[in-house]
Amino acid sequence: MARGIETKCLHLEEDEEYSNNYGAISYPIFQTATYAHMGVGKSTGYDYSRLQNPTREHLEKVVAALENGIDALALTTGMAAITLMMEMFSPGDHLIADADLYGGSIRLFSNISKKNGITFSSIDCYKEDVESYINENTKAVYIETPTNPMMNVTDIEKLGKVAKRHNLLLIVDNTFLSPYFQNPLELGADIVVHSGTKYLGGHNDTLAGFIVTNRKDISEKLRFLIKTTGAGLAPFDSWLILRGIKTLGIRMEKAQENAIVIANWLKEQKAVTKVIYPGLKEHQGYEIMKKQARGFGAMITFQLESKEYALAVLEKVRMIKFAESLGGVETLITYPATQTHADVPKEIREKNGITDSTLRLSVGIEDVKDLLEELNKVFYE
Ligand SMILES: *Cc1c(COP(=O)(O)O)cnc(C)c1O
Repeated sequence: MARGIETKCLHLEEDEEYSNNYGAISYPIFQTATYAHMGVGKSTGYDYSRLQNPTREHLEKVVAALENGIDALALTTGMAAITLMMEMFSPGDHLIADADLYGGSIRLFSNISKKNGITFSSIDCYKEDVESYINENTKAVYIETPTNPMMNVTDIEKLGKVAKRHNLLLIVDNTFLSPYFQNPLELGADIVVHSGTKYLGGHNDTLAGFIVTNRKDISEKLRFLIKTTGAGLAPFDSWLILRGIKTLGIRMEKAQENAIVIANWLKEQKAVTKVIYPGLKEHQGYEIMKKQARGFGAMITFQLESKEYALAVLEKVRMIKFAESLGGVETLITYPATQTHADVPKEIREKNGITDSTLRLSVGIEDVKDLLEELNKVFYE
């Protein structure tokens, strides 16, 4: 029987020999750039850490297991992962990408990828007819679900069928839910990317990124690309992410429990004009999430009655930190218009629904009483 995901956060199926690494419970940090050869034509299998490193490989096996993939690649950041993945495409290729995406992904696609001759149709994959945008050069569909920051939810299985029918790759950025709550490869995706900086690392202390696939041909391409371009994750950072992953399950559960309480509290405040959390029954994606995910996550986007009110909230928070990023144990509040999505042109931002009074909350694992006390202070004192 397949092991549960909490177990997979701690143990590989292929349990190591006790004699390896002296039986160390915590996987060792192989802080080495290179490896000795016992003779000409002889190798331990490890030649140089850009190509192979045991600590990084251990992390990659853990993440592949969490996403039910056959291979995972660990990179220095989420953007390094998405950039490497984009190297699979060639000038002339066309991709369909969600309109609402992490701002850094939009920046990558509209600057670097475009310069490399790749064209995009930027559409709302959760509600538009994706099929009608496919042309003879279309190679892939790239989505987030829920999207950052508007929390739009796409039916992965349905889109996966469209992609299969047209021989396109379906690529899903699974950062917002983490593998604990959602496994896109199981639903028909070919590639999953992650900002490991967020829930996988979980402690707001390390940058990392992942690409996971269940296809051998894609894995081979990506392995060639990472070896060639060189953005593999360093041994120490690999160890930090491994350490973070051990508590992924209990962190996700606690953060989600807090998020549900806070989403309902926000709904009752007069100054809040809209609460966007997929765990609320009125959310566009509530039923799809119940079908394709095991939880709703801990990211909440909300609109305030005015820009002034939003700025005042950001000025007043103390225990909750006004900071970019998400998915860590500490609760963070973000202003997408000037932070995560600052480089997205204002008209596109507003078309997606991001206004000057939109705030995004990454709910952490504090005592929810203290979070509510802080929010009450921020709103009413
Ligand atoms: C943060 C983020 C990224 C980029 O990851 P980095 O680790 O910051 O490079 C990509 N996608 C999503 C959804 C993110 O939230």
